[in-house]
Amino acid sequence: MNDLPGLFLTNSQTGEKEEFRPADPGRVKIYSCGPTVYNFNHIGNLRSYLFVDILRRSLKLLGFVPDQTMNITDIDDKIINQSIEKKISIEEFTRPWIDAFFEDIKTLRVEELEHYPRATESIEEMMKIIDRLKENGLVYERDGNVYYSISHFQNYGKLSKIDLSGMISGARYDADEYRKEDLRDFVLWKAPKLEGEKSWQTRHGLGRPGWHLECSAMIRQVYQSGIDIHTGGIDLLFPHHENEIAQSEGAFPEEKFVKYWVHCEHLLVEGQKMSKSLGNFYTLRDLIAMNYSPLAIRYLFLSYHYATKLNFSLSRLEEAEKAISRIQNTLDRLLPDEPGALPSSPPSGFALPAFKEFLASLADDLNTPRALGKVFEFLKEINTKLDSDGLKEDEKLDCLSYFYEINRLLDILHFEKDSLNDSDVERLILERTEAKKSKNFARADAIRDELLEKGILLEDTKNGVKWKRK
Ligand SMILES: [Zn+2]
Repeated sequence: MNDLPGLFLTNSQTGEKEEFRPADPGRVKIYSCGPTVYNFNHIGNLRSYLFVDILRRSLKLLGFVPDQTMNITDIDDKIINQSIEKKISIEEFTRPWIDAFFEDIKTLRVEELEHYPRATESIEEMMKIIDRLKENGLVYERDGNVYYSISHFQNYGKLSKIDLSGMISGARYDADEYRKEDLRDFVLWKAPKLEGEKSWQTRHGLGRPGWHLECSAMIRQVYQSGIDIHTGGIDLLFPHHENEIAQSEGAFPEEKFVKYWVHCEHLLVEGQKMSKSLGNFYTLRDLIAMNYSPLAIRYLFLSYHYATKLNFSLSRLEEAEKAISRIQNTLDRLLPDEPGALPSSPPSGFALPAFKEFLASLADDLNTPRALGKVFEFLKEINTKLDSDGLKEDEKLDCLSYFYEINRLLDILHFEKDSLNDSDVERLILERTEAKKSKNFARADAIRDELLEKGILLEDTKNGVKWKRK
C-alpha cells in the first residue's frame, strides 16, 4: 500500500497528540525501560512490554523500520541483597530471572527487539556521561557517592511539570542515609555499603550505578545519539524519566535526547491496585497454571488503549478467549480445504476499505480497541455475505489477505483449516484426563487420535499433559 496514514502519538512532554516524524523513517530509534531481574514479572509489567510490541508492529504496518532497545537492569539493591543472602554472584542470581523474562514475553508473542543491553555491561558508557556532567558543572561528590545537582540544570521538571517547590533542600528533610546538597538530587554512582557488594573500580571511584544513569548510558551505548521515542510505564515518568533527561541533556546539551515520550498506563485488577496482600497479584505463570491461554492475555492487553488504565479480571480473560474464537471462526470459513500459500500482499479489493480503517485506527495514537472494533464490524459483513449470496473467490482471497495483515499486529490467529483453537485443545485434553481416570481408555485414545489428526501433539509428563502444534 502506498497511501499509508500518518501516525500520531500522544507525547507526554506536551500532552498533545503529535504527528510522528522520526529523524530517519528507515531506522526509528526507540528505547523502552525494561525489567529489573530479581523475580517473575507480574502482568502489570507485562502490559508495558506488550505495549512495546504494539508500538513495534504498528510502526511496521505503517511503513516504518523500528530499531528498538529494551534494557535489562541486572544490578540494584534487591539483586545485591538477595545474591549476598544466597551467597552467589549477581550473575548467577539474575540468570534464571533473565531467562524467565524472555520466556514470558515470547509466550505473549512479543517480537524480539534488536537490542537488549544490560546495565552491568554499560559501565564505561556511564563513566563517559559522568565525565561530561562533571565538565558541565552538574555533579558533586559526597562520601564516595557521585550526585547530580538538579539546581544547576535549567530544564529540570519539563517532562513531569511537577511542582518542585515543596521539595526544597534542608536538613529536616534529610532522612536519607546519603548527604545530598539538595533533597531532589539523585545519585549517579554509589559507593558500596555492604560487605561483598558487587562494585566496579572506576575513575569516579569504587561503586555501582544508580538506576537512572543506566538508561541514559544504554541509550548512548546503542545509538550514540538522541532517540525518536522513549517508552515506559507511567510510574516511571517521575523521577526516572525526568532524571534521564537531566543526565542526557546535561551531558550532551547540543543534542535533543528524546523527541516523543510515550507512557503506558497502569493495570488494575477488578478496579484495585494489584498487590500480594490483596490476593489479586498475578504473574503470567499463575494464569497459565489456571488454564488461561496466553493469547487471551495478549488479546486483553490489545483491547485497551495504552494510555487508559487496564482493568484486568478473570472474566475479561474469558471474554477475550471468546473474542479470539469469533475472529478465528470467520477466518476458518474462508480458508481453503487444502493448505495453500499464505497471502503475500495486503488486501487490494473487497477488504481494502476495512483494512484502511484498521490502519487508520492504529495511526491514531495506536488505538487498538478501535482497530478491534473495526475488525468485528468487518467480520459481521463477511459472515452476512457468506450466509446469503456468498463471496466470490477473489473476494475470499482478499479477505484472507486482510486477516493475514491484521494478524501482523494481533498475532492470535492461525491459518490452517480445521485446526483447533487453544481453548478447544485444553478442553479435549481435560476430557481425556478424566476419561483415563475413569479407565475409559478407548475414549482417551480416541481423543488423542482426534487431536493428532488436527495437528496437535500430546506429551504426558510428570507435570501433566503438554501439547504443541505440529
Ligand atoms: Zn529507564
